[in-house]
Amino acid sequence: MLPTIVLVGRPNVGKSTLFNRMTRTRDALVADLPGLTRDRHYGRGLGASRPYLVVDTGGFEPTAESGILKEMARQTLLAIDEADVIIFLVDGRDGMTPQDGVIAERLRKSQRPVLLAVNKTEGMQRAIVSAEFHELALGDPLSISSAHGEGVRDLVELALESAPPEEVEVAEVQDDRPPKVAIVGRPNVGKSTLVNALLGEERVIAFDQPGTTRDSIEIALERGGKHYTLIDTAGVRKRGKVFEAIEKFSVVKTMQAIEEANVAILVVDAQEGITEQDAHVAAYILDAGRALVVAINKWDGLKDDEREWIKREIDRKLQFLDFAKFHYISALRNKGLTELFQSVDMAYKAAMAKLPTPQLTRVLIDAIAQHQPAVSRGIRPKLRYAHQGGSNPPIVVVHGNHVDGIKDSYVRFLEGVFRKVFKLTGTPLRVQFKQGE
Ligand code: GDP
Ligand code: GDP
Repeated sequence: MLPTIVLVGRPNVGKSTLFNRMTRTRDALVADLPGLTRDRHYGRGLGASRPYLVVDTGGFEPTAESGILKEMARQTLLAIDEADVIIFLVDGRDGMTPQDGVIAERLRKSQRPVLLAVNKTEGMQRAIVSAEFHELALGDPLSISSAHGEGVRDLVELALESAPPEEVEVAEVQDDRPPKVAIVGRPNVGKSTLVNALLGEERVIAFDQPGTTRDSIEIALERGGKHYTLIDTAGVRKRGKVFEAIEKFSVVKTMQAIEEANVAILVVDAQEGITEQDAHVAAYILDAGRALVVAINKWDGLKDDEREWIKREIDRKLQFLDFAKFHYISALRNKGLTELFQSVDMAYKAAMAKLPTPQLTRVLIDAIAQHQPAVSRGIRPKLRYAHQGGSNPPIVVVHGNHVDGIKDSYVRFLEGVFRKVFKLTGTPLRVQFKQGE
């Protein structure tokens, strides 16, 4: 499980600015897609020591009586429940407010580690600005500037130190285990119907009981003679003879399930179209580097023109998933599931592919012969050889000189070539560069 860091504070103290800074990584390909990240409150960050999940809670008005503020307060309390560490953000320019005091009291009761961060302190006398916040009795206030990135890295590392320690996996054991397949998507798209359809046909072997609400359950599945471990986020439980969804949707649970999986099945509702939330889950899968198969569910009962419409929606809004297979299925009528799992197998194989150095290097040399990297600041980058730096997602490390000058478009060109030659359908692929001596 990745540690979950939750950002809490009054509106306008700079939470979303901090969130954006924490989630901006080199690998966040989708970060630049217009419209997509605007309302993203859940993301993945890369700390110096390890990756983490970060949740931005909007604005916390703990005393709100009704309306949207009350709902935001409720959401914040839910997020606090799912937190490993809380960063409580206050505004160094406004100084301490009564609301800060109320929030602090709530947080002290939460039994979670809390870091108090005083934001907007760039160009100010840090010690003086933060002094008054000692009164909140949440330890030493840390001065930061989210907008300028000052103190943010240290804050994140301190937060990660307060989180439960990382579990160490034994690499050799992992290879023999069945692929882990997470079934994810927003509420009501048909996840539990899909899990039921899969389990209905096959014998259920075991259930793992979850410890907390944010844990997913793992279900052993045998299908077409192959074994899988389903990671179910819909909360399907055996009740008498039927399986029922008894838990509410949790984004943290969804993100944790994606982290644990080898392959994610992203379920989308064809009758509703593609929503921002669908795109956010998809973006998260890409950030996490997981293999992906998209299930466009509820395909039954759609008229031809509706089918055309949803296909156009997909082209427009999920174009960044062009490496993945899309399947039009009906979980309710058990249609399309065999093909869906053929793609799951293919995506898993691609995610775990072994890419030998001689082949990689030959493909690289051929690619360069076809299309050289552009000259940058008067120098043409020289690429010499490539080796595999990891799997799930496959990472190709290209060694050469002046690699700083490689343009994004060239990275995408190489990605396309490696993807095609090694048939890496269904998995994200990372191409990284290493400067030679
Ligand atoms: P949120 O409501 O807590 O998510 O706050 P936002 O991130 O939307 O920020 C509210 C305002 O504070 C925006 O105008 C930001 O540009 C500004 N802001 C955020 N961080 C800083 C900072 O470190 N320094 C300064 N001076 N302004 C900041
Ligand atoms: P979840 O919240 O993602 O687990 O969604 P559910 O599995 O609970 O499904 C939500 C609703 O969509 C239920 O009323 C299902 O019967 C319905 N549903 C699920 N799959 C299909 C499908 O393939 N076709 C149609 N027409 N309805 C479906």
